[in-house]
Amino acid sequence: MSKIARATMREDVDVVIVGAGFAGLYMLHKARGAGLTARVFEAGAGIGGTWYFNRYPGARCDVESMEYSYSFDPTLEQEWQWTERYSTQSEILKYINHVADRYDLRRDVVLETRVTAATFDERRSRWTVETDKGDRVTGRYCVMATGCLSVTNLPPINGIETFKKPIYHTGAWPHEGVDFTGLRVGVVGTGSSGIQSIPLIAEQAKHLTVFQRTPSYSIPAHNRPLAEEEQRKVKAEYPAKRKRALAEGFAIDMQMSQTPAASASDAETKEAFETVWSRGGLGFLGAFSDLVLDRAANDKAAEFLRGKIRSIVKDPKTAERLAPPQVVGCKRLCVDTNYFATFNRDNVALVDLRETPIEEITPDGVQTSASFHSLDALVLATGFDAITGALNRIDIRGRHGARLRDAWVDGPRSYLGLGIAGFPNMFMIAGPGSPSVLTNMMVSIQHHVDWIAEAMSFLAKRQLATIEPLAEAQEAWVKEVEMVANSTLFPACNSWYVGANIPGKPRVFPAYVGFPPYAEKCAAIVANGYEGFALAAQATAAE
Ligand code: NAP
Repeated sequence: MSKIARATMREDVDVVIVGAGFAGLYMLHKARGAGLTARVFEAGAGIGGTWYFNRYPGARCDVESMEYSYSFDPTLEQEWQWTERYSTQSEILKYINHVADRYDLRRDVVLETRVTAATFDERRSRWTVETDKGDRVTGRYCVMATGCLSVTNLPPINGIETFKKPIYHTGAWPHEGVDFTGLRVGVVGTGSSGIQSIPLIAEQAKHLTVFQRTPSYSIPAHNRPLAEEEQRKVKAEYPAKRKRALAEGFAIDMQMSQTPAASASDAETKEAFETVWSRGGLGFLGAFSDLVLDRAANDKAAEFLRGKIRSIVKDPKTAERLAPPQVVGCKRLCVDTNYFATFNRDNVALVDLRETPIEEITPDGVQTSASFHSLDALVLATGFDAITGALNRIDIRGRHGARLRDAWVDGPRSYLGLGIAGFPNMFMIAGPGSPSVLTNMMVSIQHHVDWIAEAMSFLAKRQLATIEPLAEAQEAWVKEVEMVANSTLFPACNSWYVGANIPGKPRVFPAYVGFPPYAEKCAAIVANGYEGFALAAQATAAE
């Protein structure tokens, strides 16, 4: 593709937004609505964030289409037609592009431009944002809409750089697609991306070897076309449905049971699990009220799910290797189509890296401690440097030139996941310390953007220059996030949630568990005059 060089930008706006996924685009729309000027920088050659980059075979959302959409405009909600229960990546990207056109968002978005630095000027109370194209744009506010899962994790496997055939990462998939016909393919990784892509790669490839380090629990999607009538019904009650989602822990209208597993008989337990299994999807966690709170309840769910794997996978040894030992939910639950049944195919082999670890990757394949696997292509479904990865890649400097990377050396610290002490007028969308990845991201994104836009309007009305979390409020929030997480089973295993997939990353559980109490706190803080934030009338330069 020929690229047209553009002049570097020198511009002063009200809001600089980093990222043009669902979060950045809605932030732009709200900023405009508040009468503010904005500039959005996006690294991709198109808008869409996650949905622009994750084009691997089988990529689709594991939150149902009717919920994984904006709710800010009832007209938009009513006019858009989804075609399947779970949307494909391409359909979601089409929707994002439709939204961008409908609200005329593109004219303020600069593509193919990566933000490299953001520096707070204390004298002027402005952020200067710099890019890899030499741009320098200042804004009163800087909003990081950089995504929770946007920096790919390339595992440091010995010899990986010597592999002479193509290597693909699911999170940076070639736009022209990949044809695996007739090839011997290896997939490393069995999280959501691996689980979605493996069945489709298996159908195309001559042979597929799956290198599994930790097996995942996965619930069938039971994906299907969305009938016109079904959509009409949901649309007729959309406000009520969205309201129900706001009252749920995961901000998904899953109608979580109020009954703890402990109070159910064995027969009732089995029936409840069968019901949610046959419905399919993430709603499995709503079978009982305590599945992510109580180990005994969780064990029952785990045993049920392992039983399902044993019943689907014909070879008992393979079934055992696919049966996860960990707590259900401590690694993100997966949603699949034909994942476990794929291991019944003659052209698919499972290599359990717990028994036979990878020793090295050679120019021609993968050498484990037991055998060599000749490959024509390698797929890395190895995930992301989650939540903090994208923020830490930018050289962010707040008061006194302090670097965010240094402030977060022992893990992220924020107030509400929205702001950071020492970094005035900088906001994060779905930042660490907010419910983010434990919710329907569309709900969290809209909640945060609305909150941020309201804060900006508040400052304008009161003629205030800056808003910044107080250090003590931030410390209390960090403790609360940790305390709430530790009262659940979410931190119970090694996962990307706690940064265990990235060597050297501090182990911190970065999400506030429970959307409704979080939203209540955010509202109460506003009602109390932005309690926990310092509001200053004019630039407060360092002495
Ligand atoms: P992931 O959940 O982090 O899975 C990465 C996989 O790669 C894991 O099985 C991991 O094993 C393995 N792995 C990592 N490094 C390895 C190494 N050095 N050697 C061998 N194996 C290695 O990543 P993901 O599947 O891309 O999913 C990330 C998140 O993105 C999901 O949890 C979800 O939140 C989101 N997502 C959502 C959807 C959807 O909506 N349907 C689809 C895709 C992704 P270990 O577990 O042992 O570390």
